[in-house]
Amino acid sequence: MKIKRIYSILFVQVIALFGLSAQEVRLPLDLPVSFSGTYGELRGNHFHAGYDFRVGGRIGDPIHSIKDGYISRISMSPSGYGKGVYVTHLDGTCAVYGHLSAFTDEIEKLVRKKQYEDESFSVNLYFNQSTFPVKKGDVIGKVGNTGSSVAPHLHLEVRDENGTPFDFVNEGYYDIKDNVPPIFQRIKFYSYVDTTGVPETSFLLGFDAPTSLSRVIELPEKSYICIDAVDKQAGTPGRLAVEHYRVLLDGETIFDFKVGEMPSYKGLYIKSLIEYGESYYSGMDMVKSYVEPGNALRSHIESKNSGLIILEDTLVHKLRVEVRDGQNNLSAINYRVKRGNKVQPKGVSNDGRVPMFWNLPNVYRADSLSFAIPAASLYRSILLNVEERRGFDPNNNIYSSIWSIGDYLMPMHKAATIHIKADVPDSLQSKALIMKLNSNGVESAVGGKWVNGGVQASVSSFGTYYVAIDTIAPQLSFSFKESAKVTSRSVIYARMRDNLSGIRSYRVEIDGKWALSYTRRGRIEIVLDPNRFKRGKNHKIVVTAEDSRGNSSRIESDFYW
Ligand SMILES: [Zn+2]
Repeated sequence: MKIKRIYSILFVQVIALFGLSAQEVRLPLDLPVSFSGTYGELRGNHFHAGYDFRVGGRIGDPIHSIKDGYISRISMSPSGYGKGVYVTHLDGTCAVYGHLSAFTDEIEKLVRKKQYEDESFSVNLYFNQSTFPVKKGDVIGKVGNTGSSVAPHLHLEVRDENGTPFDFVNEGYYDIKDNVPPIFQRIKFYSYVDTTGVPETSFLLGFDAPTSLSRVIELPEKSYICIDAVDKQAGTPGRLAVEHYRVLLDGETIFDFKVGEMPSYKGLYIKSLIEYGESYYSGMDMVKSYVEPGNALRSHIESKNSGLIILEDTLVHKLRVEVRDGQNNLSAINYRVKRGNKVQPKGVSNDGRVPMFWNLPNVYRADSLSFAIPAASLYRSILLNVEERRGFDPNNNIYSSIWSIGDYLMPMHKAATIHIKADVPDSLQSKALIMKLNSNGVESAVGGKWVNGGVQASVSSFGTYYVAIDTIAPQLSFSFKESAKVTSRSVIYARMRDNLSGIRSYRVEIDGKWALSYTRRGRIEIVLDPNRFKRGKNHKIVVTAEDSRGNSSRIESDFYW
């Protein structure tokens, strides 16, 4: 009896602890909950680490701390979270509130002071628990649209004591009612052949707005499926995250991926999780069942035969695709598949291509090119095709051969090192850089430095590269007239662009003092701060800029403010 009583007391205490933790949390906004983004969404190079709360398009609503704790960090950046507040809670978790329009007045002043001290728009401030303690419900800032945000919203993420963001809604912070299952947007099948020892894949067939089919689909002996699905919730047009993808062949799981708790360093492996070429062409992130050997998300994946659909006979087999949201709402599609003789993959031979092994460092060398791929940069082994076009044409700013290297639809995890020999006069070698010719015909600057009779640079993709030179300084102009009266303005603008290598740095001074500014959409937005510059007089403004090849320009003007 006694033992039993102790057990029941323990049980009551455990319940109390869990119950208490729920009461310790409140919502960050005084608005009905509606999400435009959820935890785990595939966002190109990362999984969305939190929830995006909709705010009805309004800037300025108060944001409340969801728990007791203290402000441990403030970040200010023209990109990313813009104005960000980090609140560390007593249990070691940390809530990150992003894209704010304003901090508290006290913190606004501290940030401004630090910006002038560092002469930098971007700042980070760190605090211990005694500086800004907060109680659940305290206002820590206002809703905004700063940083990498396209519409007013609140980004809230919660990280555990190791800094790993987790799905706090599914962990029970809030009781969100969601009965709406995910929807399939598109399904595609790809063939898989590895007769050369290196896998080759190609598109077979696909379905838009797919549903279960009664007719039999013919597939080759080996193939895999690509799934584009989004989750829906009542009351929001948001395309939210699917939490769980599963593919079954004859009732047996061949692919099972759960987002789960995703450390941010694994985010880039999305490039292997999805069919990369589909993303490149259509912007669609289709999760593929084929698990490449270099995909470090395998700890979140269960698979059989690397997720391949293998048809060893010519009988009809059942293929089932399931997607679930975080609340376990399920959508499923059933197919009937059989091995078809008509579906033969394209003939494959080496064609003089060079194998590059995913788990080894690889170097391709030609007379005037070297291309080095570090180990585990490729997610699977490939056959590399390299073509040289004689491109030397200084009138068109081409100082080397033009090299087409590999398949630009094949992702790379770590940067490769490229070296292209070039015929550049000594006096211009410091102005030389590597350019990339993109598949749409648009060129972009890569950069690099002159070594060993050519330019060496880091590149993060396969593609077409050559050497050019940049001797042209950035173009600068003010968007107001000389001696203009701008009395009513708190921000003035200057336009800034560079023809080729890109802006390395710029600086704005008013009356000889550094002025706060940031760049957005190709222009500099310059803050006229009455605490730094005296109102009601003429001021002198100077803007200087330098591109990444050291070409610099300077403009100046007077204005009345
Ligand atoms: Zn977000």
